[in-house]
Amino acid sequence: MEKLEHIGIAVKNLDESNRVFARLLGRAHYKIEEVAGEAVRTSFFEVSGVKIELLEATAPTSAIARFIEKRGEGIHHLAFEVSDIKASIQAFSEKGFSMINTEPKAGADNKLIAFMHPKSAQGVLVELCQEKR
Ligand code: ZN
Repeated sequence: MEKLEHIGIAVKNLDESNRVFARLLGRAHYKIEEVAGEAVRTSFFEVSGVKIELLEATAPTSAIARFIEKRGEGIHHLAFEVSDIKASIQAFSEKGFSMINTEPKAGADNKLIAFMHPKSAQGVLVELCQEKR
């Protein structure tokens, strides 16, 4: 892993949560982006080089909607930057980590992403991400 790239937080209402986080962090979000493939609307804040990604479901079938139904709002995933996502997926699989995505897919913020199953990381959903080049 290169660095902690962002922390993903599942929220029910993005606009309301943007206001709460702006008051908490002392700065506004710097962008909002919809990822149709994941059925989410996201917003981004940055604190000392680490991003906070708020995620709101845009459909009841969204993974974020299902997460909130089961566990309520809160931290959803930790995303680590990798330099070569395909190589990382393969390397982690070979080390016995269970990858939810064995192929990279398009995420927000110009990233290729792949999720690792929380059972592989003590209940934490881990996202690998790589800047699209
Ligand atoms: Zn993420």
